[in-house]
Amino acid sequence: MITLHLHFPERTHALPILLAPGLLDRCGVALQEAGLEGPVALVSDTTVAAHYGARVRRSLEEAGFSVLEIHLPPGEGTKTLDMAAVLYRRLAQDGIGRDGLLIGLGGGVVLDLAGFVAATYMRGIAFVSIPTTLLAMVDASIGGKTGVDLPEGKNLVGAFYPPRLLLIDPIALHTLPAAEWRNGMAEVVKAALIGDPTLWQKLRGDPARWAAMPDMETLMDLLTRAIAVKIRIVEQDPLETQGEREVLNLGHTFGHAFERVSGYRVPHGEAVAAGMMAATALSARQGCLEEPRLFQDLEEVLQGLGLPTRWRAWLARYDIDTSPEDIIAAMDTDKKRRGGRLRFVLIHRPGVVRVHSDVPDEAVRQALEETAGL
Ligand code: ADP
Ligand code: ZN
Repeated sequence: MITLHLHFPERTHALPILLAPGLLDRCGVALQEAGLEGPVALVSDTTVAAHYGARVRRSLEEAGFSVLEIHLPPGEGTKTLDMAAVLYRRLAQDGIGRDGLLIGLGGGVVLDLAGFVAATYMRGIAFVSIPTTLLAMVDASIGGKTGVDLPEGKNLVGAFYPPRLLLIDPIALHTLPAAEWRNGMAEVVKAALIGDPTLWQKLRGDPARWAAMPDMETLMDLLTRAIAVKIRIVEQDPLETQGEREVLNLGHTFGHAFERVSGYRVPHGEAVAAGMMAATALSARQGCLEEPRLFQDLEEVLQGLGLPTRWRAWLARYDIDTSPEDIIAAMDTDKKRRGGRLRFVLIHRPGVVRVHSDVPDEAVRQALEETAGL
């Protein structure tokens, strides 16, 4: 068992993050040991529940918890205020009170929604997060963000509401579809470039090795390292007010623009992969990339994972034909535009990235041309 801690300001207790193979079958005891009690509402989607619902429920019941199970439809379409209202009402109908405990079991969608409901039901009840996708394990579940989408945009309503306990069982990744593995790996690559040169060397050393889930020891190392990077950055800027957290947006200014021009039809991880290539080209163009080889290395790592590296060729697979100008226009609405200039996270070398607010649109256009492909 590996235990990490995430410290939030003005909270006496740090958030414990437990990582261990087989943890799903021992979650009841883990909750008990963390001093958590109360009737449990276990929120999951139907796919995850079919794989892991019964095991988690059994473990909770064996530890003496009463369990109300709630299953949502899988997919991003579930992250709505309407669905939050459905959950509030189920909790109320089942008499879950302030002493209740809400557990989210699933990927980013389930955890964002369940966390938001926990933050707001009865002005806040205890929340426990059990991520089951790679993306959620290394990224979405760490950092206290919860929320839902509106028709006007993603994650427009939400709250910072860290869970009381985070349980990560890598065995759950065995059933994860290959596409979900790849998409999560895009965020692992991002974490390596932002803050773990050793992890970057491991990824670079043998790109094809990471295309599917590795052996358990390697997987535990990968998860621990990627999570540690995220913890370090979130602790510097827990409420995203000071700017340090912005480095987590490496590849995301481009990535979000790709997602937007596609009408959110492309997976987030693919968008981030193509976005990191463009960001690396931009870093070279702006003269901050100290290792010119990085561009080629990154392309090999992403290709080894089966992730896209050239945006035009990749978007064509989704029947999307767009231009650098359209992509730059899609960035304008992004919250990263402050004071009229786009802000970019640029790479200096693996482990060293910085936010730059002085990037001219023309350099962005050229970086896009350079990484278009086709
Ligand atoms: P994320 O935002 O983390 O990618 P989602 O909540 O959208 O997550 O989950 C992606 C998809 O993967 C959903 O259809 C979900 O039901 C499914 N899923 C999540 N975890 C697992 C798992 N461990 N095994 C199989 N399918 C899973
Ligand atoms: Zn992301």
